[in-house]
Amino acid sequence: ERLISDQDPAVWQIIAAEQDRQEYTLEMIASENHASPAVISAMGTCLTNKYAEGYPGARYYGGCKFHDQVEDLARDRAKELFGCKFANVQPHSGANANTAAFMAICKPGDTILSLPISSGGHLSHGLRVNFSGQFYNIVDYRLDPDSELIDFDYVRAQALEHKPKMIICGYSAYPRTIDFAKFREIADEVGAILMADIAHIAGLVAAGEHPSPFPHAHIATTTTHKTLRGPRGGLILTNDEDIAKMVDRRVFPGTQGGPLMHVIAAKAIAFGEALKPEFKTYQQQVVKNAAALAEALTKHGYRLCSGGTDNHLMLVDLRPKDDSLTGAEAEVWLEDAGIITNKNGIPNDPRPPKVTSGLRLGTPALTTRGLKEDDIRQVAEMIDRVLATNGQAASEVAKDVRAMCERFPMPH
Ligand code: PLP
Repeated sequence: ERLISDQDPAVWQIIAAEQDRQEYTLEMIASENHASPAVISAMGTCLTNKYAEGYPGARYYGGCKFHDQVEDLARDRAKELFGCKFANVQPHSGANANTAAFMAICKPGDTILSLPISSGGHLSHGLRVNFSGQFYNIVDYRLDPDSELIDFDYVRAQALEHKPKMIICGYSAYPRTIDFAKFREIADEVGAILMADIAHIAGLVAAGEHPSPFPHAHIATTTTHKTLRGPRGGLILTNDEDIAKMVDRRVFPGTQGGPLMHVIAAKAIAFGEALKPEFKTYQQQVVKNAAALAEALTKHGYRLCSGGTDNHLMLVDLRPKDDSLTGAEAEVWLEDAGIITNKNGIPNDPRPPKVTSGLRLGTPALTTRGLKEDDIRQVAEMIDRVLATNGQAASEVAKDVRAMCERFPMPH
């Protein structure tokens, strides 16, 4: 820290301000977390200096002895954590992992069956403006409009009609347990490959708090920075040796050059943390806290899509509380109070994506700080005080948010 502040105070001021923002706000974005000091430290090491194109034992540069060791460690820990035979720890991000996974399975023009972003999918699952929507023939499945759960009859009907090469399950805003076995049944019926994108739930899966995609999925991708609480990055997993070989080729040289070895070291540390018993306790608390938040918000008059949550996140439909309230306004007012959220479209949202009728809330980061169910119920009350007054109470609530942050400091 002193190094940066001495050499470049302009950058240091910004970093310090962000450090302060994180310390004194309640982070409720479902895809974010507070990585451990060890994970963060690893990213500021000399491992960043090295080119290590290729894989352990087969690099295109000299001097990779220690990079081989750290990548092997990361791969072995990832395999142990997710109970699978192969892991590629090099993708720079979740979207990069998906790019390489798609290219390992599909040729340009092949059909992919996925859930659109408007129903909770991720943009890399086929949005027109993303590479996935440009290079592949994307066919959608949907949520049941009443239950807001995956409409498996429709998944099957679409699979039978369009005979996709690949079916994707795993989402960015789906609060319920994913039935991987049911997806695999449909995939087998039409000879498709099943890809599970477990970016959001990876930590829960690793801790046994959500069913594993294995043995059902042929291939799984994830980010490492959400519930898994590692550095920003991606990961690809499989049990299939042929798929594993293609994945390795599609990551490097298919879509990336040199791996971020400092981030791979941080991934190894995060996987090591996730293998410890405390991580299971943490993920159990994440789920308990989400259930407590869902119940409290329902009591305050909000509607939760699908009626609640099974995992770490929920989608709040703001309309039953106040029909004029939008996700965009709610996000800004809550931020004024120091509660950080993101507006999110709800299924069949009549409002456009930059406005929305919903908020997505998650408990991974607050649980890392040590909040438990009673504390979470207080947070629900703070949220309601802000929203019920159209933001008027934000500065009052900000004091309670600050006190809560002081009671539960970030990991240092
Ligand atoms: N897949 C899912 C389901 C996600 O929710 C996300 C990120 O939000 C990604 C992939 C992409 O991850 P990244 O932002 O690291 O590219």
